Amino acid sequence: MMIYHTHSKEETRALGRALAQEFLPKTLVTFSGDLGAGKTTLIQGLLEALGARPPYPSPTFVLMNEYRLPSNTEKGIERVYHADAYRVGATDFERLGFLEWCEDSAGIVLLEWPERLAEILPPRRMDILIETLAENERKITVQQRD
Ligand code: ADP
Ligand code: MG
Repeated sequence: MMIYHTHSKEETRALGRALAQEFLPKTLVTFSGDLGAGKTTLIQGLLEALGARPPYPSPTFVLMNEYRLPSNTEKGIERVYHADAYRVGATDFERLGFLEWCEDSAGIVLLEWPERLAEILPPRRMDILIETLAENERKITVQQRD
């Protein structure tokens, strides 16, 4: 388990860029934390470092944004699925293809609000928790499961 502290939005985004360097294909990464904690900010850094083309809109309403990575072939990551389960449940997400995204051998899944999918979450994943300690201070816990 790794714990980080950040003191600005930019620092959180930079942490996202650094964490992306360690990602391998077929990884599910979950993001927990209250509204305004910094989930989207961290994910923007990740998407940037993976080579996804901006803009990086929130998937809150569309449920999933898929990015194709033309240049990021060295590690074998070709697709990023950025999903948000806030408005739906496990049944809807299964129907959308959530488990197939997780099985994509050239894909990375970034999932906000994993609590909503507790029954179907694959046990092998990276969990990231963002906690607000002060207006500009965040504690970010990164934990590999299984
Ligand atoms: P979430 O997606 O979790 O709802 P966002 O990333 O959209 O959160 O928003 C985080 C908000 O908190 C932004 O308004 C940002 O400017 C502010 N903020 C303040 N300090 C930090 C920090 N250390 N890391 C990330 N965001 C921060
Ligand atoms: Mg968000």
